[in-house]
Amino acid sequence: MAKMIGADCKQCRREGCKLFLKGERCTTKKCALERRPVAPGQHGAGRKRVTEYGTQLREKQKVKRAYGILEKQFRKYYEEAERMKGVTGENMLSLIERRLDNVVYRMGIGSSRSECRQIVNHGQITVNGKTVNIPSYQVKVGDVIAVKDNKKELEMFKQLKGMKIVMPKWLEFNSDTLEGKVLALPTREDIDLNIKEHLIIELYSR
Ligand code: SF4
Repeated sequence: MAKMIGADCKQCRREGCKLFLKGERCTTKKCALERRPVAPGQHGAGRKRVTEYGTQLREKQKVKRAYGILEKQFRKYYEEAERMKGVTGENMLSLIERRLDNVVYRMGIGSSRSECRQIVNHGQITVNGKTVNIPSYQVKVGDVIAVKDNKKELEMFKQLKGMKIVMPKWLEFNSDTLEGKVLALPTREDIDLNIKEHLIIELYSR
């Protein structure tokens, strides 16, 4: 299966913002972006002229890298968002935010999106009682997301019990039962990454 290549922290340094790819480390002083806030490579710290195209491209890369999505799938989100009513950029981000791996991440079941993608891939998550092992699965309002019963005693899930997890208002999660629910569809204000989505739409509309 194709996957994104490149050391996680280098991706953040390239984009000049935290993409939160390494779990807890991202919120500590060990974060590479805090220690070395310049682009990777020999000329990373030098000044560069950025074209309009370059700015749009960087914005797209930022979202792709944060969510771990490849180009083909990312374009599909754009095309679907374009067919929907409303603002294309906001629709696109909402579709991406509704990916099952992201929902598992937002619920605090794993500490990074890549870890949550693995959790889903390994068949450790159920949606409405059925195992779903597709990270790009789109959740709907009312869906019940849970850690599979026979996996709840795994150390990584046991340590969540009783934990107070902060999550967006469109989701709820009970860390004792390891079960949560999609209360609403995510809106633009629920997505906390610093993204100028209109630049991505401009890029695809060229
Ligand atoms: Fe990015 Fe996290 Fe690495 Fe910091 S620690 S640079 S936020 S992946």
